[in-house]
Amino acid sequence: MRLSRYFLPVLKETPKEAEIVSHRLMLRAGMIKQEASGLYAWLPLGYKVLRKVQDIIEQEQNRAGAIELLMPTLQSADLWRESGRYDDYGKEMLRIEDRHGRDLLYGPTNEEMITNIFRSHVKSYKDLPLNLYHIQWKFRDEIRPRFGTMRSREFLMKDAYSFDLDKEAAVKSYHRMFVAYLRTYKRMGLTAIPMRAETGPIGGDLSHEFIVLADTGESGVFCDRDLLEKPIPAADIDYDGDLSEIVDDWTSLYAATEDMIEMDKFEADVPEDRRIAARGIEVGQVFYFGEKYSEPMGAKVLNDEGKEVAVHMGSYGIGLTRVVPAIIEACHDEDGIIWPVSVAPFELGLINLKTSDDASVETCQKLYSELKNAGIDVLYDDRDMGAGGKFATADLIGLPFQMIVGPRGLKNGEVEIKDRKTGERSNVSIDTAVEHIR
Ligand code: ATP
Ligand code: MG
Ligand code: MG
Ligand code: MG
Repeated sequence: MRLSRYFLPVLKETPKEAEIVSHRLMLRAGMIKQEASGLYAWLPLGYKVLRKVQDIIEQEQNRAGAIELLMPTLQSADLWRESGRYDDYGKEMLRIEDRHGRDLLYGPTNEEMITNIFRSHVKSYKDLPLNLYHIQWKFRDEIRPRFGTMRSREFLMKDAYSFDLDKEAAVKSYHRMFVAYLRTYKRMGLTAIPMRAETGPIGGDLSHEFIVLADTGESGVFCDRDLLEKPIPAADIDYDGDLSEIVDDWTSLYAATEDMIEMDKFEADVPEDRRIAARGIEVGQVFYFGEKYSEPMGAKVLNDEGKEVAVHMGSYGIGLTRVVPAIIEACHDEDGIIWPVSVAPFELGLINLKTSDDASVETCQKLYSELKNAGIDVLYDDRDMGAGGKFATADLIGLPFQMIVGPRGLKNGEVEIKDRKTGERSNVSIDTAVEHIR
């Protein structure tokens, strides 16, 4: 992509309304634009990151055996009357009436709708276990939307729902999602710690929130420092096998949110030098809630004795539009964002320092097409402007590598490659430059 033809509305000034660094940088880097309170448009650069986050989530959900579908954003109020949540949910729910006077709502979550799909089609224990997920916009009329897409009103969520014959099988489904979450966040460059959590309006008795430590986080959290160093299960993990050992290993170390903290136990279990009492960002949550929805909504299957039983369910959410600012909170410096390679909007920025110099233009053209041919997604800064502004933009939008082309280097047949994260610069010959990126 040529920057001169792209849509990258970077801001020079720091927006006053943005209180935290990720919000400031997302606005300054031209990733998002606020449309109304808690409503954001994702501009091209931001949308590319969001799509990469989505790809990773889908790959890891699929690997763990979950199956993707897509449900609508609007739901019938009647479904929520069946579960009893229509009245309970309160003011966070956006309620809508259509022209026929029917009550609808913009879904804040999808337990009811997925239970309805399940009960319409699944009748036998032989069809279990089943885990269905979608990635769809949600709406919650947050009392205080803030920090950009970190807490917005409309936000993109991955929500998965598991169905099992009994609690034992449901806990296995829970473990599969638990392990998939560890892998998912890791691949995005995040260290997310599973912490015992309250279940809130979703209900149930077993739940973990996945928390990224950050001073700007809205949750108070308490955990054992050793959790930060724990290795993550590899890609070839057998999801059909017994995952309880991994989950036990993670949950044996103390980690709880402020709603669940028992200070005595925290202090007894964790040596003082390993205690972390900090702030964190909730980037996901997993729940087991048994028959909470299947019972009132009649989601039942025949077991192997021909008896009808309500299925045991769990649900598993990740806020994609919150994950993006969470990555920025974890990965930035005073000059801008530092994207982990896995979610970077482009892999490389190609910078022409002097557009009035024919040799520079020619070399950039050549490198640009070679890079594209090598399958590298490159943003080519071909704008007719000074080098300082180009460097500032490149650092601000945080692509992992910059390839810098200018008359001085070309005299020696060289271009410069800069690693955005380490700041390391090296001169490489034009002929091998593409090799260095691959
Ligand atoms: P919070 O405690 O931040 O209000 P929640 O516990 O209400 O979140 P869940 O119902 O657990 O949220 O939803 C699953 C995930 O969706 C959360 O872990 C979070 O990543 C994301 N999420 C929830 N609310 C928002 C929001 N207003 N904006 C962006 N992401 C959100
Ligand atoms: Mg909430
Ligand atoms: Mg919460
Ligand atoms: Mg939650």
